[in-house]
Amino acid sequence: MWTLDAVLASAAAKFKTREALVAGDRRLSFADLDAAASDAAARLQALGIGPGDAVALQGRNTIDWVVAFFGAVRAGAVTVPINHKLAGPETAYILDHSDAKLWLVDRDLAHGADIAGAAVVRPLDTADDGDLPGLFAGVAPGDGLSPVTMADTDPVEILYTSGTTGRPKGCLHSHANVLLAGVGSSLVYGLGPSDRVLLAMPVWHSFPLNNMLINSIFVGASVVLLPEYHPLHFVQTMHDEGCTLFFGAPIAFLMPPRMLPHFDSIDLSHVRAWIYGGGPIDAGTARMLAERYRSDRFYQVFGMTETGPTGTALYPEEQIAKAGSIGRVAVSGCDLKVMRDTDTEAGPGETGEIWLRCQSMMLGYHKDPDATAAAFHDGWYRSGDLARIDEDGYLFIIDRLKDMIVTGGENVYSKEVEDVLAGHPGIAEVAVIGTPHDEWGETVTAIIVARADTTIDEDEVKAHCAANLARYKIPRIIRVVDALPRTPTGKLQKFLLRQGA
Ligand code: ATP
Repeated sequence: MWTLDAVLASAAAKFKTREALVAGDRRLSFADLDAAASDAAARLQALGIGPGDAVALQGRNTIDWVVAFFGAVRAGAVTVPINHKLAGPETAYILDHSDAKLWLVDRDLAHGADIAGAAVVRPLDTADDGDLPGLFAGVAPGDGLSPVTMADTDPVEILYTSGTTGRPKGCLHSHANVLLAGVGSSLVYGLGPSDRVLLAMPVWHSFPLNNMLINSIFVGASVVLLPEYHPLHFVQTMHDEGCTLFFGAPIAFLMPPRMLPHFDSIDLSHVRAWIYGGGPIDAGTARMLAERYRSDRFYQVFGMTETGPTGTALYPEEQIAKAGSIGRVAVSGCDLKVMRDTDTEAGPGETGEIWLRCQSMMLGYHKDPDATAAAFHDGWYRSGDLARIDEDGYLFIIDRLKDMIVTGGENVYSKEVEDVLAGHPGIAEVAVIGTPHDEWGETVTAIIVARADTTIDEDEVKAHCAANLARYKIPRIIRVVDALPRTPTGKLQKFLLRQGA
């Protein structure tokens, strides 16, 4: 059977003492991980967890997290990985919405057990003075593991979306969905047993979980865990642990050169795949990053939690010629089309919404049949992402449908304005949103983070826009802030900016 559990068991049988997980001084072989997962599963069963029960995991990237995840899988549970940066009420929403029976949480994140609702709370991390993960402490494994029969069509993950457009939605994925997503992306960047993958983006997110961790176990690659992304630790760990592969949001690549004066002298020549995705990037920045990190090792991926996150890929040899593109469909078995409207496909040079159909597609939104029905049309998932397709079939993200601004009856793609502003020498980061306007419906507003030691001159910024954009696209309002609201994976949360607008 093609289940996550069977994949771990067969990796243990094949790769035995090879290093599976590394976190600081702690190292676990594939056999160790398999044994720890069985032990965790037995203890979870002793806590009353059985097939189909939802087990929520909320913590940083640790070995304890991974062991608990595979323990829950082995017990037949449906895992609910939760963003470790959520506040109490946001966590409470997911615990309640997912019907979590158990909430495994890093001690310092527990907020207050009062938000647990119906879930039993257990510590996920190892206490400073303990040598057993909190999950294990004080829970006897009963009479050992009672084996659970599972099918590849059984649900195994409820992954909540980033919440960049509003309340996160729970994407329900089966074992087969998850494994197909992992296999697909492994084919894109050629993941193999000699790879050492650095997992510094949050493990509860779909790409790091399915396309970095689970597929590494599948192919016998080692995974080095960093509890959280940090521009300095990430570069240092890539170097010290000889990591060959890294995935991050564009911002994760931008920060080290900005913050480390000696960045260019750090030897990272052993890295064979830098993978960025999860958020838009303008052509100039894409080209600059590709040159800085070596374009022949740079990949871009595009996808979403709903699809596992299968989607498109831009390969190293395409990075310079097609800078700013998200590439073409990543793997066969995934169909993609760009729709001008529900009946007509967009042709070369035209813009439309990306629709996807793939084997790793979610089973649906958990407990939300209306949202599920609204997201699909004739079996195609409507991504809500607007893209232009060029004459070679490459896609360029224009905007998210929800981020498009309508001002005086004209459509303004916020990303087009952001790309122009990103080319201004004094601007470090920018977000463009529509703010309500009595006469025009919406007005274009730019929210800017200035580069260090730079003062933003509004008139000069508007003149820069006027040289590159039609009049109606020029931001009428410019706000300078210290930082933009982002999800823990570095994605902009424009809906928060709109709330504060
Ligand atoms: P929510 O659905 O709660 O608003 P979200 O859509 O941000 O959250 P995710 O599934 O994490 O949740 O993100 C998927 C979205 O991220 C895509 O629909 C797309 O808008 C954006 N995205 C992903 N990869 C890229 C990329 N390479 N370039 C541009 N945008 C990307």
